[in-house]
Amino acid sequence: MISGTSDLQSTLKPAVFLDRDGTITRLDGYLISPNQVRLLPDAAASLAKLKQTGFLCILVTNQSAVGRGMITTDELDTIHAELNRLLAAAGAQLDAIYSCHECPSLDDETIVEQPDRKPGPGMLLRAARDLGVDLSQSWMIGDRLSDVLAGVNAGCRSIRVRTGHRYTCPIRSIDCEYACKYSIKEAAEFILAETRTKDRAIGI
Ligand SMILES: [Mg+2]
Repeated sequence: MISGTSDLQSTLKPAVFLDRDGTITRLDGYLISPNQVRLLPDAAASLAKLKQTGFLCILVTNQSAVGRGMITTDELDTIHAELNRLLAAAGAQLDAIYSCHECPSLDDETIVEQPDRKPGPGMLLRAARDLGVDLSQSWMIGDRLSDVLAGVNAGCRSIRVRTGHRYTCPIRSIDCEYACKYSIKEAAEFILAETRTKDRAIGI
């Protein structure tokens, strides 16, 4: 039997897509060794709360360090194994990790050069197909405009956090709305508050 669109929609899950460096881990240049992985304060607790509320937690990370020849894909896997170990030790877990290894050729993070590299939505769209995500009920959290735009380009709402990349020049205005929060903790609290408000509005 083939499910109708409404049946299919009801089985889809909301997700929070998360950037890595400067969002859930400390931003410290290129991360090229598992020994450098440091969780930011409240990252694990925030992920755990989102997951308890029913959100999938999916990491989507630009890793041009691979494309630049600074690390291999196996080394990137060991870095992510350490990230998973640290999260598990703090009671949290990611549902999936997607990484894009392409190098940018332009110094403009608002331009989609390659579908998978943020601000392209490719990783989010693939995760949505793989894991059954309702993008319209999902969020993207990251420290860069490329994160914000990747979320918007995938049909999600976006939040920019201030724990990572610092803009030393005026931020180029982009034609989309997004929320600014200090950290992953405030971003998660904002998402949970918005979810409660929506649930009240539809009488859940
Ligand atoms: Mg980042």
